[in-house]
Amino acid sequence: MKKIKPPVEPFRIKTVERIKITSRKEREEILKRAGFNVFNIPAEKVFIDLLTDSGTSAMSDNQWAGLMVGDESYAGAKNFFHLQETVRNIFCFKHVIPTHQGRAAERILFETLLKKGDSVPSNIHFDTTRANIEVRGAQAVDLVIDEAYDPDSEHPFKGNMDVDKLKKFIEKKGRERIPLVMLTITNNSGGGQPVSVKNIKEVSQVCKKYRIPLFFDACRFAENAYFVKKRENGYEKRSVLEIAQEIFSYGQGATMSAKKDALVNIGGFVALDDDLLAEKLKNQLIISEGFPTYGGLAGRDLEAIARGLEEVLEEDYLEYRINQVAYLARLLDEAGIPIFKPVGGHAVYLLADRFLPHIPRHQYPGWALTVALYREAGIRAVEIGGVMFAKKDRKTGREVFPKLELVRLAIPRRVYTSAHLDYVAEAIIGIYKNRDKIRGLRIVRESPYLRHFTAQLEEI
Ligand SMILES: *Cc1c(COP(=O)(O)O)cnc(C)c1O
Repeated sequence: MKKIKPPVEPFRIKTVERIKITSRKEREEILKRAGFNVFNIPAEKVFIDLLTDSGTSAMSDNQWAGLMVGDESYAGAKNFFHLQETVRNIFCFKHVIPTHQGRAAERILFETLLKKGDSVPSNIHFDTTRANIEVRGAQAVDLVIDEAYDPDSEHPFKGNMDVDKLKKFIEKKGRERIPLVMLTITNNSGGGQPVSVKNIKEVSQVCKKYRIPLFFDACRFAENAYFVKKRENGYEKRSVLEIAQEIFSYGQGATMSAKKDALVNIGGFVALDDDLLAEKLKNQLIISEGFPTYGGLAGRDLEAIARGLEEVLEEDYLEYRINQVAYLARLLDEAGIPIFKPVGGHAVYLLADRFLPHIPRHQYPGWALTVALYREAGIRAVEIGGVMFAKKDRKTGREVFPKLELVRLAIPRRVYTSAHLDYVAEAIIGIYKNRDKIRGLRIVRESPYLRHFTAQLEEI
């Protein structure tokens, strides 16, 4: 087999954090104690942690240096003005309101805008976005194109919204019950798939026609802009900064979790143009997050976010980032491992039902694969399948399973080297060869909401 070349890291390593591999016997014990739930495993007992790309980025020396110039004044800290200037330059929205993370940005926005019975269409809402909408008695509606649910379709922009579905939905529901439309870039819950500028433009035209504001869930805006540069006609020669600016020019605001494309471990913000709405959001912010120039963060955090937003648009970084994820996907694909295609921006998704065809859905093949990954190799991944998303039928009590049974291998930014990814690929290929030995599981204890975080299971 031809050797697949890994991307070269556009940085060198100045500080290291030790990671230790445990023995298989130790991991057997740890799994039992954790109720076969990888969320219950102490992080120190994980060798390669691919649970999430959120808040797990490595900061640069420039960001760490920024922490030392944190201005911890209660009001008007200089780092706020640096953040405001940076966000205005990239997002081109007038008001910048910091929050402690993305879901806090969502909460102040929806608490202000939504009434019971309202609807908010998106391509696919992220879980916290959906929860913050539903808790207001409103409806979170997913209107992504059909290709998004087909793991074999090579559509280059599987995060696109279906514009016809959007028009029909607005006509049916009435514009006065739709306070905003959202677009998640990249589309996290749909595999980190990008949205094209063409699609964003079309969605914005529909919104304009019905006078509904368009907001972006912008957590991975830089990765989205990079995909546009690589895949969309007419954008090859534009800088990712220019592409990001164009994308945001079609909307009226954005919510952001800085734990993704701002390359920090905590933080978020809302950015928007509307003066009156900004005033209302700031009033909400003061109740729970803090004064509008710090929003639940320290001055040093604001500085790290500002610097991270500048670094994330460096094109050598983005090229390495996207190619690192693609590199792991190629190693797996060429070995015949079933994965979701094309690969998205922040993670590789294994198709667990094809990986483990001998395990029926009600014995949770995705979950079984996360257990096998930890047991055999000390790797932590997350199931996005039956345990996370099955709904109980009210009448029969039987579980109704989501379309896809996935295991996500999320790649933290600037954290693991290509050698680590080689290790991950080899481990998965080894597990695939012995997949017949993997057993399904049953749930012995669960909670009514978000059961995957706390469920206790046993192997069958
Ligand atoms: C992570 C994420 C959020 C929520 O952000 P937090 O910082 O975790 O609160 C919202 N939307 C998307 C698309 C995300 O990936």
